[in-house]
Parts: sequence; C-alpha cells; structure tokens
Amino acid sequence: MSGDPIGNLSQSVDLVDSCDVVVVGGGLVGSAVAARLAHDGLSVAVLEARRLAGGATGRSMGMALLGLPEPYALAVAACGREQAREIWTLTSEGRERLAETAARLGVPFERRGSLRVAETEEDKSVLHASAELLQTDGFDVWFDHEDPLERGFLASLGNPDDLSINGAELSEALIESAGVMLHEGTEVRGLEADGGGVRVHSKHRTVHCSMAVLAVDGYAALLHDYFADRVEPKRILTRATQPLDQVILEQPFYVESGHVYGRQLPDRRLLLGGWLGPDATTRALDSILDIKSGDALSDSLEAFASRHFPDLASMWTSRWADVTGFTSDGLPTVGRLPDLPQVFFALGLGGHSLSWALVVSDRLARLMLEDEDPGLVTAERFA
Ligand SMILES: Cc1cc2nc3c(=O)[nH]c(=O)nc-3n(C[C@H](O)[C@H](O)[C@H](O)COP(=O)(O)OP(=O)(O)OC[C@H]3O[C@@H](n4cnc5c(N)ncnc54)[C@H](O)[C@@H]3O)c2cc1C
Repeated sequence: MSGDPIGNLSQSVDLVDSCDVVVVGGGLVGSAVAARLAHDGLSVAVLEARRLAGGATGRSMGMALLGLPEPYALAVAACGREQAREIWTLTSEGRERLAETAARLGVPFERRGSLRVAETEEDKSVLHASAELLQTDGFDVWFDHEDPLERGFLASLGNPDDLSINGAELSEALIESAGVMLHEGTEVRGLEADGGGVRVHSKHRTVHCSMAVLAVDGYAALLHDYFADRVEPKRILTRATQPLDQVILEQPFYVESGHVYGRQLPDRRLLLGGWLGPDATTRALDSILDIKSGDALSDSLEAFASRHFPDLASMWTSRWADVTGFTSDGLPTVGRLPDLPQVFFALGLGGHSLSWALVVSDRLARLMLEDEDPGLVTAERFA
C-alpha cells in the first residue's frame, strides 16, 4: 500500500502494540464499531484522547429522534420524496437498534416520544405539511394546532416513538460486552501506511494494525486535510437548571427553526441545547469549546429561555459544550481515505446523531468486512 503519512508523527514512542483494528475515538460510533468488529472475532483497540464517551456522546442531551433536524416537508423539497423517506426510515431503524441494544445490555432508556414545536406561523405551516407527508408515507406522527407544553409555541408535531438514552452508558456497555481494549488519555497524532496495514501514532504508543477507523466526528479535520471541507465542526451548547421541584416537561421537544432542544432529565434538571444554523459560527477548534456567555450561540439560547421559560430565570446553574460534525447535505459520511485505503471513517453525524450512530457503525463494519456499499451515507457522494 502506498500513501503519505498523515498528522504529526514526530512524537516520542515508548509502547508498541499490534491488533487487527484500531478505532480512533471512543464516542458512541467508535464504541459500536469496535464492539461489532470484536464480536466478529477481530482484536480491536479503541484509542480515545479523553475518557470513553468524553466528547459529544457524553455531553449529549440524549434525545434519539426521528429524521433530520430539518422538517420532512423541507427535506422532501430538497432531496425528493423517495430519499427523504429513506432518511427518515433509517433514523427510525437506528432509534430501534438503540432500544434493542440498550435492552440487551441492561442500559436504561425512556420512550416518551418527542414534540417538534413551531415558534412562528411559517414553522407551523411547514410542520403541518410535514405531518401530512409523513402520515402518507407511513410514519406514526400526529399534528396538534395547540401547544401541549403551554410554553407559547403555536403548534406541534408529535413523534410518539422517540426515546431518550444516556449515550455514555451505552458506549461503556458496548465496550465491556465485547472485550475491546480501551486506551483512554491517548490522543492520536497521526497514521501512516505500514506494509499492507496502518501504523497509528499517539504520544506514548504506536499501534500496528490491519485497518484503522476514524470515529472522531467533528475533530476529523485535525487528523486529515481530506475532511477540511467535508466535515464542518459546529459547537453544540447545553445549559441546565438545578433540579426543579416538579416535572414541567413530560416530553422532550425541539423547535422547528433555530435548532433549540429541550428535555427534563429524570433528576428533574431542565436542559436547553442548540447550535446555530448553517453559515453561522465556525470557529477555530481550539476555541470551540469556549462556553462563556456573550457569544451568538450563548445569547440565542438565553433569549429562547427568556421567551419560553421566563419562570426559570434564576434556576440556570451550569452549561457545557462539545463539537459535532456536519456534512453539506446533513447526512453522515462513511468511507475510506483515498490516500490510505486501510483507514475507514464514519463521521458527520449532525444534530440528530444518536439515531444515526448504530446505522452508520453497522454500514461501516460491512464496508470493512465485506466491501459492501454504505448506500445513502457513502462518502462517494462527495467525490
Ligand atoms: C451538548 C451536546 C448535546 C447534544 N445532544 C444531542 C441529542 O440530544 N441528540 C442527538 O442525537 N445528538 C446530540 N448531540 C450530538 C451527538 O451527541 C454527537 O454528534 C454524537 O454523540 C457523535 O458521536 P461520535 O461517536 O461520532 O462522536 P463523539 O462522541 O464526539 O466521539 C468522538 C471522540 O473522539 C475523540 N477524539 C477526537 N480526536 C481524537 C484523536 N486525535 N485521538 C483520539 N481520540 C480523539 C473525542 O475525544 C471524542 O470522545 C449533542 C452534542 C452536544 C455537544
């Protein structure tokens, strides 16, 4: 195999290992791919820069939702009815795989459904059109001209099968169930061709393997320029109240425009999270985790909270952020590096990642093991 090394390889090395597959990144995608390959009899090591699920997976609000963040009617207009139906079907399958896997591994989850809510008359008519199209296409959704949350929204579209789950707990259970080797605190600095395989370098460890997987989502461009214009990192910010006296949100919700999400946790803390839309903030990665108030994202979440949750003004106590990768068409990208074809990737999970995670990890494993085309999520679509 030929190919130039990628990343910075000029690090000291004091440990050399080998295994069949190295997975770079221990979020839900990396954990699921690693577990799947290990169950197939391969020796697999996960190298994670922080701790397992220490990135977006562990900071997620845990909402596993049907479809893309964009409403169905707009997806139909953008990519056609057939493709929109396939996307929604895949996320529905991904959500059900989450439920099955969690049940099998003893990880708790809640199936309370979710509400897409309208903040404007325009949102409302798009929601209404989306509900009609979804029902015709066989999806179990309903439309309500009222606001079941009584928080000043104009209408809602209910997805009764959506669920909430702790992605970090599921990642841990996947790794433990499959006998995967886990190296935390191990930031990969570069990969290079090594005969027919790959050498993966971190500061104190080099691993020789037959194949490597990049499951680093929004951090991909730091490892290879190939992803610079393919996977855009966006910061998702969540703010949380202290535990409230009562349950005020029976169901998680998200807003048709503005990408704002809300959920009350079992411990009764209320979470509001979101990111800014396309063309908004793209910042240097070293400052992307900055969560000080006074930037556009923080201000927009604060304004949303004042409009719809003014009674909680004194209750917000904490916030956190991490990076999620977005592709130009909003779908994940699964493939292999042209210059290092033994290096595979599943990235660009976007805002509704949890419902994609087990779909893309399965497509990636089948590409690696059987050379099967990943279909809709193939990286070839950007070639
Ligand atoms: C605050 C927040 C709330 C969210 N809420 C939701 C939600 O409710 N529903 C939903 O569907 N999605 C949500 N998301 C998005 C979702 O959590 C992520 O997109 C998803 O978890 C991505 O999973 P992943 O495994 O691909 O990536 P990640 O979980 O980001 O895992 C990638 C891992 O790679 C590691 N890494 C990066 N570079 C290197 C390197 N060089 N060497 C070694 N390791 C490296 C990182 O430390 C990280 O742990 C949210 C995201 C955030 C930030």
